[in-house]
Amino acid sequence: MIIDTHIHMYPPEAMADPVGWARRMDEPYWGALVGDNPSGKTIQGWATVDQLIRDMDAAGIDRVVIQGIYFRHHETCVVQNDWTIRYCRQYPDRLTGFATVQPLAGQQALDEVKRAVDSGLRGIGEILPYAQGHSMRDEPFLAVVELALELDIPVCLHGAEPVGHDYPGRAVTPLQDYVWLAEQYPDLKLILAHLGGLLPFYELNRTVRKIMRNVYYDTAAIPLLYRPEVYRLAVEAVGAEKILFGSDYPLLLYPRRTRTPGFADLLAEVRSAGLPADQLRRVLGENAQNLLKL
Ligand SMILES: [Zn+2]
Repeated sequence: MIIDTHIHMYPPEAMADPVGWARRMDEPYWGALVGDNPSGKTIQGWATVDQLIRDMDAAGIDRVVIQGIYFRHHETCVVQNDWTIRYCRQYPDRLTGFATVQPLAGQQALDEVKRAVDSGLRGIGEILPYAQGHSMRDEPFLAVVELALELDIPVCLHGAEPVGHDYPGRAVTPLQDYVWLAEQYPDLKLILAHLGGLLPFYELNRTVRKIMRNVYYDTAAIPLLYRPEVYRLAVEAVGAEKILFGSDYPLLLYPRRTRTPGFADLLAEVRSAGLPADQLRRVLGENAQNLLKL
């Protein structure tokens, strides 16, 4: 079974006019990602839910996890969650959803997570404190984390390395904060997106390794960031059981080659990374199946 744990599906009104929608909803951070930036450039691709299913079929993907995104306003999170729930109900055999949340909304945010989980969503994410106006050590964020523990659902956090090139929407996240969070909540199931800003390699440190025992890393957007050896090296560093296949679809992962979103090229890249068959099976689906109880 092949499971992609990190894709995005937006509300139809957002896809129809991303920049206008971002301005109307007062979501400048997301706006910058979709073209509302000084260069006007974006590598965001778009797809309807029906196109998503066609692209999954074409690449042989059995299931995807629709992640929310780190919106600033509680109201935008609610709109996003409504659509994620709707998409998942439309294709229950193919789609699983995570709830997005603005922790600063306090009790409203906690109630929204409960509503989303009652409606079938299976995790919280993709969120990012630093794009949402708070830190990982702030009380409202920790209240969301504690609710995730109580509901026994994973939390997916956006990750980015502290070095490297600049691009619209880049947010640097102090890697130490992820480690701090995992240390405070050893039972919390954390998914760090985009190979956690290369945090897997710090697991070579024995203490960090112990602290991060419930932390997973997804491969979303990797072709835009790292050389393909990174899959094999990350598996060597943390073990195949901690790496989750994710794409960031419909983001354009190979923008110089194609402006059409899809899964097939990334899947081929991961398959040719030189992993033994049993490890590849874990990365491509078994880990997600266990983690998400699918
Ligand atoms: Zn991300």
